Amino acid sequence: MTYKNIISAILSVSLIIILSSCNSQSIDNTAQESEIDLFAMDTYMSLKAYGTTGETALQKASDKIKALETTLSVTNEESEIFRLNSAGGKKTEISSDTAFLIERSLEINKETNGAFDITLYPVTKEWGFTTGSYKIPSQARIDELLANVGSDNILLDTDGNYVSLKNEANIDLGGIAKGYAGSCAEDIIKAEGVTSAILNMGGNVQTIGTKPDGSSWKVGIQDPSDSTQLVGTVEVADKAVVTSGGYERYFEDELGNIYWHILDPKTGYSAKTDIISVTVIGSDGTTCDALSTSLFVMGTEKSVDYLKTYRNHDAVIVSNDNTLYITKGIINEFKASNEFSGYKIITI
Ligand code: AMP
Ligand code: MG
Repeated sequence: MTYKNIISAILSVSLIIILSSCNSQSIDNTAQESEIDLFAMDTYMSLKAYGTTGETALQKASDKIKALETTLSVTNEESEIFRLNSAGGKKTEISSDTAFLIERSLEINKETNGAFDITLYPVTKEWGFTTGSYKIPSQARIDELLANVGSDNILLDTDGNYVSLKNEANIDLGGIAKGYAGSCAEDIIKAEGVTSAILNMGGNVQTIGTKPDGSSWKVGIQDPSDSTQLVGTVEVADKAVVTSGGYERYFEDELGNIYWHILDPKTGYSAKTDIISVTVIGSDGTTCDALSTSLFVMGTEKSVDYLKTYRNHDAVIVSNDNTLYITKGIINEFKASNEFSGYKIITI
């Protein structure tokens, strides 16, 4: 993680805290507040829960997030994904967490016509996005690596949780893992009887129930060009709010060209469309995470078609022509910040 990313992560965590404290008069003061801060999955996370079982719930949730990080990391040699990527195509036993994520990733790959593809890893690695040792690969190298990209190289046997990767394919669950960690944490926290919690995991926010006083959570959407500012806020209850944008991880060449970490599987280059950032809101954090990455690759027009077809997700898209595209389902819950009040809003 770069110094800039660390600062931006700290700032985005602080923004959420500021938003919660602005509303502190309305929080039920009788509800006991617990908080755990941790660094996992390359992100500063702040987990907050209300009520007497909150502390135990957060401890269990934090343990699960750390365990998932160890299982799913693409760079940690001890991880299941590392073992699978090094198996030379052999059938490998995997945990039910990994099997579920691969299965969901394959479904989303189909739904998004290939925009979401976990087999892009060899290309992402070549650009240095997973290690921070950035470089611009030659076109020949990209073409060579793209030849082995494609979700049909993943043979998943969910009966016994086995998988094999054909044609030297390698996978990376970086576009979906944090959302899944949020969903698992949500289940664990609810099972402890907590009805009010908010998990800020960088660009992923998972809300559980409502605020202790029964009102909605107010979640800030980060301004893609200034991590201290917001595009606006959305009021949600029991939903995940997941944002993807090029600003999260990128590097610049000597000519000032910017390359970011979300790649278009068709080209092997950073996905460049009219979208600057996209926030997906829905009940399932895992899907919201995969979709925020996918819609960023697809651009506004295809994203609008997708959202209209599947209708079970809301979104706020910031496009490069000073327009916010917002789904009907969330439009009344969205409030633009002063900086974005001049933007045109198109309801989709
Ligand atoms: P997110 O921050 O959730 O949008 O995820 C970005 C991460 O997903 C990147 O750092 C890569 O690890 C991975 N990734 C990049 N492009 C894609 C893609 N087109 N499909 C699936 N995963 C991707
Ligand atoms: Mg994602």
